[in-house]
Amino acid sequence: MSDSGLGFSVKRFIIFIVGCAVAILIFEGMGEVGGSMIKGQVSKTTSKYHPERNVDDRIKPEFVLEDKVAVANAANSSVSSSADEWNAEDSCEQVIEGNDMLQFNLKEMKVSAACANVTVILKHTGVMAAEIMGHNWVLSSDADFMPVATAAAGAGLKNNYVPVDDNRVLAATSIIGGGEKTSVTFSIESLSAGDAYTFFCSFPGHYAIMKGAFKVIA
Ligand code: ZN
Repeated sequence: MSDSGLGFSVKRFIIFIVGCAVAILIFEGMGEVGGSMIKGQVSKTTSKYHPERNVDDRIKPEFVLEDKVAVANAANSSVSSSADEWNAEDSCEQVIEGNDMLQFNLKEMKVSAACANVTVILKHTGVMAAEIMGHNWVLSSDADFMPVATAAAGAGLKNNYVPVDDNRVLAATSIIGGGEKTSVTFSIESLSAGDAYTFFCSFPGHYAIMKGAFKVIA
């Protein structure tokens, strides 16, 4: 009898506790809902969140996103299609750009074997000085590329980082800094359509990244 009575009262106690807990949860939940409703009202009506206030600040992120997309598109197009935009296939005049990020915009250049002379125009689209981020355009055979690039550092800036009287250098421009432009015109008579040539920037340390294939198309 006492067991069942105790069991009964414990059961009631548990129900009471659970009831309290549920009541507290409901109360809390209503508080949350009410709180966020009030917050919403405050957000809508206070000047800080007013539709006409701080418009610039609030729309800025959208423009940042658009800019990023635009930059990404520009980066893609400069790598993949600028050769088509600027340089006709096999053109005897080639335009190539270097920037402050240690990049040429072309990985490959093609000229026609029919060209008497080839002119390569190098533009530095960055802003950094030649002493710090100088670029040139140097051509050698694939086999001579590394030896010439290594020897270039010793030639110094006064020689445009091009080894002096070195017949492994097939063509070379001077070193230029940001905003500058230079060119070199050379005969490709001694070059063969089947051979592999490399163009690169011989400014110390740049050749590892700033290089590409130069092809003579028969
Ligand atoms: Zn360079």
